[in-house]
Amino acid sequence: MIISIRSQASSEERAQLLALLGRVTRHQQPIRPTAIDGREVITLDGSQLDAQSSALLRQQGAVERVMHIKTPYKLVNRSFRPEGSSILVGSHSNGKTVTIGPDAHGVTAPVIIAGPCAVENREQLLTTARLVKAAGAQILRGGAFKPRTSPYQFQGLGLEGLQILAEAREKTGLPVITEVMEPGLVETVAEYADILQIGSRNMQNFPLLLAAGRDSHRRPVMLKRGLSATIDEWLLAAEYIVAAGNPNVILCERGIRSFDPQTRNVLDLSCVPLLHELTHLPVIVDPSHATGRSELVPTMSRASIAAGAEGLILEVHPDPNSALCDGRQSITDDQLRSIVRDARLMAQLINGKAEVSRVA
Ligand code: PEP
Ligand code: MN
Repeated sequence: MIISIRSQASSEERAQLLALLGRVTRHQQPIRPTAIDGREVITLDGSQLDAQSSALLRQQGAVERVMHIKTPYKLVNRSFRPEGSSILVGSHSNGKTVTIGPDAHGVTAPVIIAGPCAVENREQLLTTARLVKAAGAQILRGGAFKPRTSPYQFQGLGLEGLQILAEAREKTGLPVITEVMEPGLVETVAEYADILQIGSRNMQNFPLLLAAGRDSHRRPVMLKRGLSATIDEWLLAAEYIVAAGNPNVILCERGIRSFDPQTRNVLDLSCVPLLHELTHLPVIVDPSHATGRSELVPTMSRASIAAGAEGLILEVHPDPNSALCDGRQSITDDQLRSIVRDARLMAQLINGKAEVSRVA
């Protein structure tokens, strides 16, 4: 249940509403209104309310509207914003702004995010940033804090990596996305980054989700699907961020774990149209981590856009064989250029703006 509070509600009316909710719910959590798009809302599991309490709730002076949402996630449910969410990236910095999601006419132009798995050094990142921009991608990726499976592997440059990313944005105008792994580092990473990435291994790191939701910079968050997460678990993780006050969440499908080691993961493309039914959040696909093989990335990129993804995130390296991290799945700038072109053509075809004969 989502309760919208009237903006003109008096403090007495608000206090009355909170007192009523305190009495009629068996909520363990204190009920705290959240501001979303200028509206104040209270979200709760309405199954706890009997018919009499629900009726009483509707009569409260502070209540503007009560929406019943049956799924365990509420604020990210499609019915909360049927037109879909568009996330504005880079509006605070001097880089270009990019919109992820549908425009005012409901048409989506796919956004391509590309860059190395890890920021390895200044030269590697600046070179890659220029190649990424020349290939037509709109956002630069690069890990400064790396969640590595082994403690002996390259762990990223940390703060120095963030500074190099900010320099690359300065030089190219591309907004940047980078991963944050700890709640205590959210504010620091947000000072440098245009999008905060929460990685698969942290999808259910609840203190991290809350910190990203409360980030004072209000940076959009890209939430990657957990290694073996169900769609409901993933949407509930997104709900944590939104309920904490940050509505700008982008979901990223990056493959889920299965039994066959031929590919690194299994790219669950059926989740893309399914998520579009379940949630208003934009969905982007990461074919690099999903497949673990650079030769599969172009085909799965086309397939992702065909499935309706609002964008792609791709690992690119000037010399994949020498990459310190994820070289096997990293593409070259030439491959990136043709993926960008194909993604645009595919989107035009889907949006009905091109005919097959012209595209072919
Ligand atoms: C990454 O994007 O480099 C990364 C570590 O991804 P994931 O969290 O999907 O494994
Ligand atoms: Mn990687």
